[in-house]
Order: sequence, then structure tokens, then C-alpha cells
Amino acid sequence: MTTPASIRLLPDHVINQIAAGEVVDRPASVMKELLENALDAGATHIEVDVVDGGRRLVRIVDNGSGMDRENALLSIERHATSKLRELKDLDTIGTLGFRGEALAAIASVSQFTLVTQPEGAAAGTEILMFGGKLQDVRDAGAPKGTDVAVRNLFFNVPARRKFLRSAPTEFTHIRQTFLLEALSHVEVEFVLRADETEVYRLPSAADLTDRIRDIYGGDMVGHLRPMNFGNGVVEVGGYAGAPPFSRMDREWQVVFINGRPASSPVVNFAIQSAYRDVLPGGRYAPLFLNIQVPPEMVDVNIHPAKKEVRFRRPTEVRDVIVEAIRLAIVGTAPATAKRGMPPRSSAGASNTAVSAPPPPSAPVAPPVVAGAPGMQRQADLSFAPPVPPPSPSPPGAVAVASSSAPWRDYRLLGRVGGLYVVLETAEGLVLLDPRSAHERVLYERFLHGLEEGRVPSQGLLKPVPAALSPAQMTAVRKHLPLLRQLGFGMEEFGGDTVLLDALPVWLADVEPAALVSDLADGLLQGARPSAQEWAKPFLADLSGRQAVALRRELADPELHALIRDLSRTDMPYTSPAGKPTVVLIGLRELNRKFARE
Ligand code: ADP
Ligand code: MG
Repeated sequence: MTTPASIRLLPDHVINQIAAGEVVDRPASVMKELLENALDAGATHIEVDVVDGGRRLVRIVDNGSGMDRENALLSIERHATSKLRELKDLDTIGTLGFRGEALAAIASVSQFTLVTQPEGAAAGTEILMFGGKLQDVRDAGAPKGTDVAVRNLFFNVPARRKFLRSAPTEFTHIRQTFLLEALSHVEVEFVLRADETEVYRLPSAADLTDRIRDIYGGDMVGHLRPMNFGNGVVEVGGYAGAPPFSRMDREWQVVFINGRPASSPVVNFAIQSAYRDVLPGGRYAPLFLNIQVPPEMVDVNIHPAKKEVRFRRPTEVRDVIVEAIRLAIVGTAPATAKRGMPPRSSAGASNTAVSAPPPPSAPVAPPVVAGAPGMQRQADLSFAPPVPPPSPSPPGAVAVASSSAPWRDYRLLGRVGGLYVVLETAEGLVLLDPRSAHERVLYERFLHGLEEGRVPSQGLLKPVPAALSPAQMTAVRKHLPLLRQLGFGMEEFGGDTVLLDALPVWLADVEPAALVSDLADGLLQGARPSAQEWAKPFLADLSGRQAVALRRELADPELHALIRDLSRTDMPYTSPAGKPTVVLIGLRELNRKFARE
């Protein structure tokens, strides 16, 4: 177990070397500093409590080394740290915290309580501070470890309090930061509670895969390929998601540099390059990237909150990352790699990749082959990321902001008959049919895209030829501009064949050739004046077809996304085919049924 190191005041010249700037800007950064202190203190069990997205409370209880009274009092002084003694240490920062200013900064803008007790001490110490002013220091009976509670952040700095976002937004940052720390310390047990509801309980894990499974579920683990590649200086480990498993934001991409969650433009660029020809633009595979570089090659101090780093030899870092990812997901090095070999003729997820002998140390995953012919199928249903849980009203409720929405806050109660979803709202009960709801969401997405003249389309890896009847071909030819407007990349290919090379992005699970034929039939039937008018029944049909592919039961985060998306539609109550999406059962009706009225 770690023993409390003694704390010294930093010399002024060191202080001046340290990047100026505020440590805390929002509840999530408070939590991050406190978590890192707990980890530095050797904690194996850490519990986090936040209230109101952390705006009212961020509290962290650890079972680490604790502090005796002298050190506890020193810890809240600016530039008091037990972790950095000399200027030269700045070059080789080993511990997570190092500037000795976090606690002082946090205490100066909050109502702050610290309770701490080192191993074997007769009594613990409790320190109370109010806006940076020491209120009280007293004995406290406490278990070994440290308990820091930060209440009403920025209560004394209205200008900054004003910039805090809504509780759900602040909680999104808290959750993301919490997960980063949990992923970088898998052996430590972490608990996160929001408004007294447990959001995560992550038991101590044997390895990163176990922790990923506990956080994201086993489905993701099945799509991960180990990375293990380096050039003797830069070493890359972790896991890369195999295409097409992906989502539309970077929430699944986590980068550690020398064990610390961090970002760097070079790294993002490398990730993008590695996935460029195996995932459609705008899709992001899960990635748990562990980069090890000699400490002197990275400058972690350019960002006061230590999030962004700068590398001394960026191109070297980039090349190793690209190669590590490609070896893991495709089994070949990138086309630009120097050790290139003759191009492969057979399948493989990329036609530009060349095969390369794997370095002796790198275990190579089997090549990934795309699902549909020549097409990168999307793994999910193009839902946006899940809405974070907390909100004021019923515990565990989720808030959706839209005036036309059938509910303001809701709570997911469960499922009935393996299909219908049951929600609790302020008004009563809601039964929801996810399939009809999905149709409505898709339909409006299509329609809005069309109205705004931007239907994002997604290229197929290989163009797909589709043979049509002469009548179908005539219809397609006539409406080619409209089809392109709808996001279909199409060209005449001679005779009655068209070549399809792109689809609207939200058409995830379709067989391209059959789709073209259906399209043409739709065109033959409808002779309507405007694109929108023509498109409506067609789009309704298309979204119906698309939503039918939704046979499996949705996971909770997907459901939350669907519910939120539905509440934002113009016509949330019916599917485009006119079927109900929700059945509302009001409290009045329930009361009546129970003869309470
Ligand atoms: P830094 O982490 O940069 O040293 P902080 O202001 O975050 O600066 O913390 C000041 C000092 O207080 C730390 O160096 C450490 O000695 C002590 N400390 C802070 N939090 C804890 C904790 N949870 N357990 C034990 N010691 C702590
Ligand atoms: Mg610290």
C-alpha cells in the first residue's frame, strides 16, 4: 500500500514554468482531478457521487493512503504537492497530478469538505472550506482513505457559474471522464452514482477486455481486434474495432498516452487515415488505443487540464499508429507502408491495401470481410448516442426537450411481449412500438434531408450493377437527378443496367441490387408533380422496409436514442403508414380503471 509522501511547497521558478490557466472549468474537470488524486494515492476502490450533473455535488471517496493532519492542511495550499520537487521533474512526470494546485483551485470556488485518515492513525481529519476560506479543522472518525466533497461549484463566481450547462450536459462530460479513468485503471473498482442512482459499478477487472465488457457490453468485445505493434520507440497496444462495427461519433474512441487519457491532433489524424478506406466517412469504430512513448518525447503540459499532448516526433507516432490499426483490423499494413508487397488480388476489406509480413511480435487478427457484397454495412441503426440519465424529476428519468413531444421526462420501465416498450411519464404510462417509432424517425430524416437538399450518402466499396427491365430502366433514367438528390449514387451502365455506387447513409441493411429494382417500381407507379410529393409515399415505404430489419430487441441506450429521436419528430404519434407509434394511458384513465374517481 502507498504510504503518504510528505508534501513540500514548490519553488517559485518551478511555478512559473508551469502552464498558467485554470484547472477547473466544469464539474467533470473537478471529478477528474479528484479521481486522479485518489489513483495517485493508491486507491483500489473509488466511489463517485454527483448531484445535478455535478453542479450541486461532486464527491469522491477513496480507500487510498489518506493524509495525516499536517499533509491534509498542506494539500489545500496552492502549489503544494508531494509529487514534484525539481524543475527537471517536469520532463518526466510519472504521476497523474503534478502541479499541486488542483485542490486549492477547487476549494477556492466551492464549498469544500475533505475527510481523510491514513492507515493506522487514531483519528482522521475533517477540513471545511467555503470559497477558499478555511472554516474548520477537526477530528473525524473515518475509514482509511480520503473523502472529498465539492458542493455548489462556482457559487462565489457567478460569471463562471453562468457558463455551466444543463445537468444532462454536465453529466455527459462526467460520464465520459469517468469512463476514461475507469478504462485506464482496470484493476481499480469504480462506482458512479448520479442523483443517488447507480449508473456504473465496475468491479476490479483482470484486463482491459473485461472492463470494456462491463462498460459497453459483450457485443462490442466480439468486434475488437488486439493491437500490438511498435518500432522500438513508439509502442501501440489496445484494441481496434473491426469494420463495419461503428457509430456516428467518437464516443467509443479512447486514447491513452503513457497510461493517461489524452488527445492529440496527430493521433486523431492517424486513426482517420487507418480507417479511411474501410469505413464510410462519418463513422467511427471503437478504439482503445494505448500509446507508449518515452516520456521525453511527449509534452503533457501544453494543456492545463492535461488533456492534449504534443509529440516531439509526430510523423513517427502517426506511422506506428496507422500501421498498428491496419494490422489489427485488416491484417495488412497500409498501402503507403515502406515494406509494401505486391497488391493482393482476392477479397479483403480494402482493395488498396497491400499485404505485408507482420512483424514477429505482432499477432495478426484474421482479415475482416465486409458483410453485404461490396458494401460496408453499418453495425447499428444509425442512432445518435444515448441520452445521459440524470434530470430533476423522477429518479432515473430522462429529459427530452421538444415542445411537441408527447412527454417531457420519462423513465424506461421495461418491455412487454418482447416488443412493446413501457415508459413512465409525468402524465401516466406510455406504450411504445419501437418499429413504428423507428419508421417515423427514419421517414422524417429522409424528408428533411430531401427538403434541405442534403442527403448524406455513403459510398459502397465496390459499385454494384443492377439489371432492370426496360420499363424500369426508363423510369430510373427519367428520375436520375431526383434519385441523386435522394442520396443514391447511380450511373447508367449500358443496356438496362445501372451501376450503384452510393446509398443514403441511413439505408443500413439493404441488398443494393434489390433496392434499385424496388426503387424503379416505385418510380413507375408514382407520377407526381414535385420531388417531395413523389418522394413521400416512396420514403414511407422505404422507412417501413428499413425498420422491419429491426427484428432484434434494442439495447437500452438504443431505445433511449430512439425515444429521444421520436420525441423530436414533427408527427411523433404515428408511423408514416399511419400506425400508432405510442399508446398513452393517462393517470386519469388509470384512476378510472381502479375506480378511484
Ligand atoms: P497534485 O495532485 O498536483 O499534487 P492536488 O492539489 O491535486 O495537487 O493535491 C495536493 C496534494 O494532496 C497531493 O500531492 C497529495 O499529496 C495530496 N492528496 C490529494 N488528494 C489526495 C487523496 N485522495 N489521497 C491522498 N492524498 C491526496
Ligand atoms: Mg491532483
